[in-house]
Amino acid sequence: MRYMEVVRTRAHGKINLGLDVLRKREDGYHEVRTIMQRVGLYDGIEIQCLGNLGAMRHIGIETNLKYLPANENNLAYRAAELLMDEFGITESIHIKIRKMIPVAAGMGGGSADAAAVLKGINRMFDLHLTEAELMERSIKLGADVPYCVMGGTALAEGIGEILTPIPPMPECIIVLAKPSISVSTRIVYGNLNVDEIKNHPDIDGMIDSIYRNDLRGMAGRLGNVLEEVTVAEYPVIGEIKQIMLNMGALNAVMSGSGPTVFGVFDDVYIAKNAYMALKSNRECRQVYITDGGNGDERY
Ligand code: ATP
Repeated sequence: MRYMEVVRTRAHGKINLGLDVLRKREDGYHEVRTIMQRVGLYDGIEIQCLGNLGAMRHIGIETNLKYLPANENNLAYRAAELLMDEFGITESIHIKIRKMIPVAAGMGGGSADAAAVLKGINRMFDLHLTEAELMERSIKLGADVPYCVMGGTALAEGIGEILTPIPPMPECIIVLAKPSISVSTRIVYGNLNVDEIKNHPDIDGMIDSIYRNDLRGMAGRLGNVLEEVTVAEYPVIGEIKQIMLNMGALNAVMSGSGPTVFGVFDDVYIAKNAYMALKSNRECRQVYITDGGNGDERY
């Protein structure tokens, strides 16, 4: 099979500008209504084709974080395997992941890597799959992977796989802070009692604000029903939100199932001050300053 020797790409993280849970389905999954927004923060992905090594096809994984799986438990491995099995690709590959997106943090890092690998393998072996065809296959890897294939800004419904693209969020600066705790998505959803949710975010109002390019309208509607569950258990999330607000964020909220908190700023100097304050705060493990990351995915 003809192939490119190396493909390099970026796997962008996401934040949830608004996240509502409508109900728990009989199969145990939760039906959500959420606005996903890509951020500039990304993992670097390099896929190298090693050619046909004979006996057995091999998919190698290498990451800069020792505690991440470097085998079939890595979503990047499973993404490569999915397409290579379907198209009978017998060449071996090696995938290097330079992890920047906080792990198990509500920023969809694993899903982003999987989506980048699907696109990378498509390019490397010239499979001619369209974005829609990649999205269709990607749902097997996780509910957020179809969104990561598409990127940009989107309303996600169902379990997150029914996607409607919307215009990019208004221009702003995002400060991300992850406290030194790990939160399991499964446990957060498990502890959520949908009937007891008091404040549902105004997702439709937020979509209107985005269409009107109204940053304050959008920021005023940031909301996440999972925050109540997580803040109750980890008060540090509420504390980080308060620091962001005190430092001049238009608003701040937890992303996905947490624990990453993001603040939305309209002034770069104010955002940098907040970033510096959070950087020197002992409660914060990783702090980043970024934007909607609408640049090219190749580098
Ligand atoms: P989401 O926002 O979709 O809930 P998340 O931020 O909770 O995602 P991830 O960072 O994707 O979670 O990682 C969750 C778990 O998945 C990790 O604990 C890790 O062991 C495993 N994992 C497998 N592959 C990857 C990968 N490529 N990057 C990060 N984690 C991975």
